[in-house]
Amino acid sequence: MPLSEQQQKELISIAHHIVAKGKGILAADESTGTMGKRLANIGVENTEENRRQYRQLLFKVCNDVSSCIGGVILFEETLYQKSDDGTPFVDLIRKAGIVPGIKVDKGLAPLYGSNDETTTTGLDGMGDRCARYKKDGCDFAKFRCVLKISSHKPSEQAMHENAHVLAKYAAICQYNGLVPIVEPEVLTDGNHDLETCARVTEKVLAATYKALSDHNVFLEGTLLKPNMVLPGHDCTTKYTPQQIAEATVRTLKRTVPSAVPGITFLSGGQSEQEATINLNAINQLETTKPWALTFSYGRALQASVLEAWKGKAELVATGQKAYLTRAQANSQACRGQYQQVEGDQSAAGKSLFVANHQY
Ligand code: 13P
Repeated sequence: MPLSEQQQKELISIAHHIVAKGKGILAADESTGTMGKRLANIGVENTEENRRQYRQLLFKVCNDVSSCIGGVILFEETLYQKSDDGTPFVDLIRKAGIVPGIKVDKGLAPLYGSNDETTTTGLDGMGDRCARYKKDGCDFAKFRCVLKISSHKPSEQAMHENAHVLAKYAAICQYNGLVPIVEPEVLTDGNHDLETCARVTEKVLAATYKALSDHNVFLEGTLLKPNMVLPGHDCTTKYTPQQIAEATVRTLKRTVPSAVPGITFLSGGQSEQEATINLNAINQLETTKPWALTFSYGRALQASVLEAWKGKAELVATGQKAYLTRAQANSQACRGQYQQVEGDQSAAGKSLFVANHQY
C-alpha cells in the first residue's frame, strides 16, 4: 500500500537530517564475526563485553562529533547494549542529535546458478524486525549487496537479483518508517582499471534504480551507499584523486535520480587518508551535484581508533581523539575543505583492503 503523506514527510526529514551539511555516517555495524577480526588485530578477545567497551568509546563522544556525524549504523547486539552508567547506547546517540540506524541484512549467500556470485539474505521476517527497530529508536537501516568484477562478473543474473533484493528491502523499510540505505557494493578485488569499475558501477546502479522504481520505492526517503569508482586493488595504473572523483561523479550523474537526497560512500578498503582525500576531491569537482555527497565509513573511520585504543582502559581517550580527528577530516571533505593536519597519521595511511570483504 502507498505511503501516506505523513510517512513520506517523516522519511524525507530523517534522510535530510543524516546528510545535513558537513555530516556523514559512522558505520559501526560490524557483525560479531567481523568485529572479532578487528579486535584480533589489536590483540583483544571477541567477547560481548569487549565489543560493548569499544562501542562505548565511540558513543561517549557523540556530543563532540555531532557536527560531523549525522547517523550511526548499529549491529543488533549494540542497539540493546548500555554504557557503564546504564544509559542505553541508543539514548546517548539520540541525545546528541545523531540518528541511530540498524543493519538489517543477514549477510551474503551463494547465488545458485551463477559462477561464484552472491545474493544477500535477511528479507524473511524483515517487516517485523523493522517495526521493532523503529519502536526501539532506529530511524534508518542498511542492507548490503555485493557485486564482483572479473571477465564474466557481474553477470546479468547477479545484477538483477541484487537490485531486486535491495528494492524489496527498501520498500519494507519505508513502510515501517525507516529510511533505507541502499548499498550495492562493487568490490575492489581484481586488477581492473578505473574505466572498468566505472562501466560496471554504472550498470549496477542503473539496474538498482530500475528495481527501486518497479517496487515503488519513494526515492526522496532513501539514501544510496555506493562504492567510489576506483581501480582494482591489484591494478598497476595509478590514478589521481581528481580522476577518481571525475569517474565517480560522472557515473552517479548517469544513474542516480536527483530525487535521492544523499549519497554516502562506503570506504571499501581505501586507507583512511585515501577515503578522505577522494571524498574531498569529489566535493571539489566543479559540476552540478544534486545530492549531498558524503561518507558512511566503517574501516576508514575506525582503523586508527582501534589502533590507538588497543583494548586498554587508559587509552580510551586516545582512541576517542583518533575518532574525532577522522570525523572532522571527513566532515571537511564533504564540504570540499579538507586540509591534512598534523596528527592525522597513525593508521591513516595504511591500506584497509580485505579480500572478498564480508561485513
Ligand atoms: P567500509 O567503509 O569499511 O567499506 O564499510 C562500510 C560498510 O558499512 C560496508 O557495508
